[in-house]
Parts: sequence; structure tokens; C-alpha cells
Amino acid sequence: MDRRSLLKATGLSALATSAALHPAAAAGARPRNAEADVIVIGAGFAGVTAARELSANGLRPLLVEARDRIGGRTWTDTFLGRRIELGCQWISDRQQLFHSELARYGISTVTDPAAETVIFPSGNGLAEVDPAEVYTRQSELLGRLFAGSESYLERPTDPLYRADLIRGVDHLSLRDRLDQLALAPADENWINGTTASYSGGSSALGGLTALAQWWRLGGGNIDGWYGLLGFSPAVGMGGLLQAMLDDTDGELMLNTPVRGVTVSGRCVYVTTSRGTLTAPAVVVAVPVNVWRTIQFSPGLPKVHTDASLQGVGVPDSVKFWVHARTDRGRVSAQAAEGFPISSLFTHTDLGDGHQLIIGFSEDRSLDFTNRAQIQAVLRQMVPGIEVWDLRSQDWGRDRYSRGAWALRRPKQLLAQLPAIQQPYGRIAFASGDTATAWNGFVDGAIESGLRAARQVLEMRR
Ligand SMILES: Cc1cc2nc3c(=O)[nH]c(=O)nc-3n(C[C@H](O)[C@H](O)[C@H](O)COP(=O)(O)OP(=O)(O)OC[C@H]3O[C@@H](n4cnc5c(N)ncnc54)[C@H](O)[C@@H]3O)c2cc1C
Repeated sequence: MDRRSLLKATGLSALATSAALHPAAAAGARPRNAEADVIVIGAGFAGVTAARELSANGLRPLLVEARDRIGGRTWTDTFLGRRIELGCQWISDRQQLFHSELARYGISTVTDPAAETVIFPSGNGLAEVDPAEVYTRQSELLGRLFAGSESYLERPTDPLYRADLIRGVDHLSLRDRLDQLALAPADENWINGTTASYSGGSSALGGLTALAQWWRLGGGNIDGWYGLLGFSPAVGMGGLLQAMLDDTDGELMLNTPVRGVTVSGRCVYVTTSRGTLTAPAVVVAVPVNVWRTIQFSPGLPKVHTDASLQGVGVPDSVKFWVHARTDRGRVSAQAAEGFPISSLFTHTDLGDGHQLIIGFSEDRSLDFTNRAQIQAVLRQMVPGIEVWDLRSQDWGRDRYSRGAWALRRPKQLLAQLPAIQQPYGRIAFASGDTATAWNGFVDGAIESGLRAARQVLEMRR
């Protein structure tokens, strides 16, 4: 029996619903206390990658997921009958691990249409600018922001290759770096929206070396920077993840938040809302920001606790989709730091001025169920825009992510990164937040899942 037919035999082809697998759990009853070869906590890209690799090596993983869906910070859903991404959406053509997954499952990529109207900070507000000017000016300003990164991040996939030089800059926040540059106010406003938004609200939060690593991974130029978010899988993030899961011989429990992980002798006990699960080894594949909510016994090493308390995933980001109408054509707008909406751009032209627009906000005071309020803010960016409908996801307030993508804080690269990748006894850790190369991206989650699977196999030797 090949792996796929074995998977069907165990009912795992219907993994997206726990009811098919665990009727008792879906009904709210306690499932049997279960024993597994290995337990993987969290069914995002990191956890699913680890589970698939472990199953490819002959183990039968039990994936335990708090939500009623797989995917974590990727969330492929629908809005107005169209497929949308409420979390992660784009990939770069430089992300080798992601592209090898696409190739493995025969999935192609698509690109978003280019904007016709580009809006940037100007004077006290926002104004339409020539796209060619944006290209030249952003190239120059980002080049200045990241000057020197070609040395201190000589090998961006190995950010500590020049640890000697990193020591001189790892303490700097993006705000520190902007202050060093002492840009003219107009120039500062052209890039502080980027540094603040990627940091989850304030340029003071994100570490210079973290964003500089993204710049260098893109090739250290403006084309590569834009290319970081250049493509999407044609089947959505969820389509790829489901293909990976379908390729896994294991078991999935949805709706099962993990509360505690206790290591005793050669056994790990995983306490869930529905009972206790045991295995000789565990992969903790929840976001780093979530580690602090799980009771580990014995307690995690200080470096793990510090990382989780400080946070690696940026604290705030609401991603929203708007059905809007505007006579400006396909728009792309970027605000300065402090504006309630950091960026927006047209995703789909629905015809007759109607569009699906994607936006990001780090402002907790905005109410994305209040169409009039959001329209009033959007009109400061795109005059006259009409908001017809809204859909949003607040990742900072989501208790199973407690933040959005990873962008390391100052000092976290040197002080924490290698250490939090290490297993702790019978526990391995997987998360896009701990990746060496594409930290903060799904490619990095895959990297971490591959590493955690290797570590578990090593533990069992
Ligand atoms: C708005 C947004 C936009 C993004 N855009 C991009 C992008 O364009 N490109 C890109 O590459 N990356 C992007 N990212 C980052 C990317 O989504 C993440 O790096 C990646 O998905 C992390 O995967 P992961 O498996 O490490 O973590 P997660 O996807 O967070 O998976 C962790 C899983 O653990 C589960 N979990 C948490 N707590 C518990 C518990 N107690 N018990 C059981 N299960 C638990 C969660 O429910 C979740 O399913 C974006 C992220 C966000 C939020």
C-alpha cells in the first residue's frame, strides 16, 4: 500500500475537518487519551512540514491544532465568493524551499496586476505621484537605510556569517537607523511607513538587521525588494498546505488547544483541552509569541522565554479586504508612520470602478466592522473612494498567533536566534519566527519544519 492510499485508509484525506477523524472531539467530548510516535503542536506550514517529513521517515505523527482549520497565519478563505488570503499571501522567486514545494505538487504561481494610480505622503497628507518617481526615490532611500548590509549581511541566508560585524549594528532599531540618517522630513515620510508597518506599528520595534536581511535576501536592490512579495500560489496558500498534508501519513486533531507540555523520563505528556496525549518526542510548531501561553515542565530555557515575552512576531497587524468603488483605476497607496492605515492596493479589478482592495493597519482603535469609519480614513488616502463591504483579520488580537509575521527586535539575532532553534530535551521547535534564512516568511516556516523533523529523528537514535 503506498503512502497516499494508506492515508486514505486512515481517513486523513478529509483532514480539514476534525469531525471525519475525531467525531468525539468534534462533539466536544474527550477523545481517547492517545499515544503517538511524535506529536506536532500547530498545523501551520512549520508543523505540517515537520509532520510530513517525519511520516516520510516512517513515524506516524499526531498533529494537534487549536483552531478549526489548518494554516495558522496563512488563511485562505472567501469574500464576495472569491478566494482571498487573510494572512500570508506572497512569495519571492528567490525562496527555494517554497518553490520546491510548488514543484513537488505541480502548483503554478500568479502575480497581482500593476497599479495605475500611486499615492505617497506629500506635505501634510497624501498625494498622487508618478510611479517612476516612486521607483527611483524608494530605491535611493532604502539603499541609504540598508547601506553597509552588503558587509554585515554578506551571506543573507546565514545572517551570523559576519557575526563580528553584526555586533556593531544588531542593537539598532529601524528608528535608530532612521535617526542616524537624519533624512529631510519629506524623505523620512516616504520610508518610515514601510519601516513602521513591517515592524507592526512603530519603527522603534523592528531591528535593523531583521529588515536588512529581507533587503539582502531580495538581492539588495529595489527590484528584489518589490519581488519579495512578487507571486502567489495559484491554488492559494491553503491549496499548497493541503497538498502537503495529503502527503502525510498521520493524524490531525483540530479544535484542540494545547495547554501544557511535560517531559518526564522518556515520555512527553501533552495536555490539551480534550485530554492528555503522550509520545517520545514533540515538535512545538506554534508561533514564538505563543510559547509563553503554554505551561512547560520543566520550564523552557531563559532564552526561549525571553524571546516569547519580548515577541518575535510583530505585535499588531490587521489585514483587511475591501470591496470598494473608485474612479482612480487600480490604486496603490502608502502612508507615513502614524497614519491609521499603512498601505493599500488593488488586488482585483471587478469592472465599472469596483475593486477588491487589500490593506494593512496597525492601529488598534480602528473598527473594521464600521464601514463609515473605514471609508472616512480611506478617503484621506484615495479621495472619493466608496467602501461597499469589508473583511478583516486582526493578528495581534488572535490568541493563537499573538502577532503577525516575524520581524526580529533589536539584539534578538545575536542573543536568541541560534539558541531558540535548538531542541530542549525531547522537544523540538519549529516556526517561521525562528528561521535562519527567510525569517518571517512561509519559506522560513518550511525551513524550520525540516530542521525540527531532523532533530526529532536524531533524538530517537
Ligand atoms: C497578515 C500577514 C501577512 C503575511 N504575509 C506574508 C507573505 O506575504 N509572505 C510570507 O512568506 N509570509 C507572510 N506572513 C508570515 C507567514 O504567515 C508566517 O511566517 C508563517 O505562516 C508562519 O508559519 P508557522 O507554521 O511558523 O506559524 P503559524 O502559521 O502561526 O502556525 C502555528 C499554528 O499553531 C497553532 N497553535 C497556536 N497555539 C496553539 C496551541 N496552544 N495548541 C495547538 N495549536 C496551537 C496555530 O493555530 C497555528 O495553526 C504573513 C503573516 C501575516 C499574519
